Amino acid sequence: MIVGILGGGQLARMLAIAARTLEVDCRILDPQPELPAAAVATCVRGAYDDAAALDRFAEGLDVVTYEFENVPVASAERLAARRPALPPPAALAVAQDRLAEKRFFGRLGIATPAWAAVGSRAELDAAVARLGLPAVLKTRRLGYDGKGQIVLRAAADVDAAWAAMDGAACILEAFVAFDRELSILAVRGRCGETRFWPVVENHHRAGILRRSVAPAPRLDARLQAAAEDVARRVLDALRYTGVLAVELFQQGDRLLANEMAPRVHNSGHWTIEGAATSQFENHVRAILGLPLGDTAAVGHVAMVNLIGTLPDRAAVLALPGAHLHLYGKTPRPGRKLGHVTVRGEDAARVAAATERVLALAGGT
Ligand code: AMP
Repeated sequence: MIVGILGGGQLARMLAIAARTLEVDCRILDPQPELPAAAVATCVRGAYDDAAALDRFAEGLDVVTYEFENVPVASAERLAARRPALPPPAALAVAQDRLAEKRFFGRLGIATPAWAAVGSRAELDAAVARLGLPAVLKTRRLGYDGKGQIVLRAAADVDAAWAAMDGAACILEAFVAFDRELSILAVRGRCGETRFWPVVENHHRAGILRRSVAPAPRLDARLQAAAEDVARRVLDALRYTGVLAVELFQQGDRLLANEMAPRVHNSGHWTIEGAATSQFENHVRAILGLPLGDTAAVGHVAMVNLIGTLPDRAAVLALPGAHLHLYGKTPRPGRKLGHVTVRGEDAARVAAATERVLALAGGT
C-alpha cells in the first residue's frame, strides 16, 4: 500500500517511519529540496498548486494525507476527486482561517475566547471597544507558532499593531488569563470509530511549543471528558478520518478552544514511546481503514522540543527513560530540530530527567 503525503517535514518523516512497520510506503510531494522525510520516503518535488504535478502524484496512491493544514484546499479537493484524501479537505478549509474556525466552533457549541472579525481599522477600533484590552490581534491566515499575532495591552498599541498587519484580514481575541494550555489528540477511523489520547499540558517558549507533559498533571476524568467532548464534536461534524489535535486553554473548570490542527501534532510526539499506539501509527491505520490501536499512556511522559541548537547526543541518551528523535535538519534559530521523550513509571523521576533534558537543550 502507498500513502501520499503533502509536505515532507518531520511530521511526514515520523508518519513514514510508523507506516514502514506496517509495510506501507509513503510518497511525498513538497516543493522544497532536502526534506526531513527524504531518508524514509520517496520524495517528489512539485508545487502544491501545480495541477499536473498533483495528478501525477495521485497515480497509484491508496490514500492521500497532509502533514500541514495550509495545503491549498483546491489542491486537496483535486486529489480527493482521484483518491481518498483524508482528513477531508473541509477540515483544512476550517483550520486555515481563524475566522472560519471560530465560527465553526461556535456552531458546534464549543466555547472559545471572545472574538471579533477585523477587516479594517474602524472594525479594529470597534472590536477593541467591545472586547476590551488586553486582546490578541491575529491574522486570519498563515499564523503558526505565535507568528502573525500581536498582543494589544493598551490603546496606544492599536496603531502600531494595525500597521504591522499590513492590511491582512484579522480577528481580535480577548486575551485569556488561562491557568494552563492543554491539548487533546483524537483519532477517528473511516467507519467512525473514535479514540482519544490523554489530555496533554503544553508549555511554550517564544510562541513555540517547548515541552508537553502527558498525561497532564492533575488530569481528572471530568477534564478529560470535557476535552473529548470538544474533539468529538469536531470529528463528527466533519465526518473526519485521521488524527486531529485541538489546543485548549484551561481557566478554572472551563475549557476554551484556541485552535485545531487537522493532522498529527507536535503535542502528540510523546505517544511514540509514551502511548500504547502512537499518533503516527493510528493516523496511518485510520486513513487506510485499518483497526485503531489503544491510545492509553504507558506511565508518565514528557516531551521536549529541540529548537535552534542540538544538545550533546550522548548526554541526552544517558538520562534514564530518555529517547532522542532527530529530524535531519540544519540548525537555525527557532527551527525545530528534534525532540526528546522521557518516559517512566515514577512522575518525580520523569520530571527530574526532563529538567536535565531542558538544561542540555538550552533552558526552559
Ligand atoms: P496560536 O497561534 O493561536 O496557537 O497562539 C500561540 C500562543 O499564543 C498560544 O499557545 C497562547 O500561548 C497564546 N495565545 C493565543 N491566543 C491567546 C488568547 N486569546 N489569550 C491568551 N493567550 C493567547
